[in-house]
Amino acid sequence: MGQAKARRAAAETGRAWPRDQVPATKVPTGSPRDWLRNEGRKPNENVPCGTCTACCSAGYAIAMDDGTTLKPRADGTCPKLIDGACSIYEDRPLTCRRYDCRRYVFAGVSPDDHVGRHLSRWDLTADKFEDQVFLLSCRLALQHNVTSLAGKCENDLSKFAFQNAGRYKEEAAALLREHGKGRTFNETMNFIRRGFQGARAPTI
Ligand code: SF4
Ligand code: SF4
Repeated sequence: MGQAKARRAAAETGRAWPRDQVPATKVPTGSPRDWLRNEGRKPNENVPCGTCTACCSAGYAIAMDDGTTLKPRADGTCPKLIDGACSIYEDRPLTCRRYDCRRYVFAGVSPDDHVGRHLSRWDLTADKFEDQVFLLSCRLALQHNVTSLAGKCENDLSKFAFQNAGRYKEEAAALLREHGKGRTFNETMNFIRRGFQGARAPTI
């Protein structure tokens, strides 16, 4: 959460930092597998958030480092979000430092909230075959376990997808080899999605 660069720019120009902007140009997510290797190991200071503050405005209660909880304002914004910028940015809690909404894009789920509505900002980067296999494996993990996952929140769904993707790696690779010829990755994913049946079709 938080975007130092945009915040600094807003402070320098004296302008309010746009609270709720989805960029006109999509931002590349970076490699999903590289991302997963780093996930949870250290605070992620490198989310290219730009001017987005969706997760600071999504009504989340924020666990602070001292064990207290920061409750959102009535409009869903964090009380530390002032004039469109995090007023404690340099000292923001680990909860915020670790938050990275790209997890939903990689897992193929979309929270039905403010953050979910901003995921269209990302351009899913999957040029390498291994990345494509990983992304499709996540979706297969969700698809094959749709019944047991009913009612889980998107955070738990994404965790499940990452933890179980390895079980579906071979199937994903075979599907991509079979259907990927002559298609872009997105076309292949759309083609495969049309073949899925299930109560909760994954977002691919
Ligand atoms: S919703 Fe995502 S892109 Fe937007 S500020 Fe939060 S982590 Fe960054
Ligand atoms: S403390 Fe509040 S405003 Fe600052 S990054 Fe976290 S959620 Fe956003």
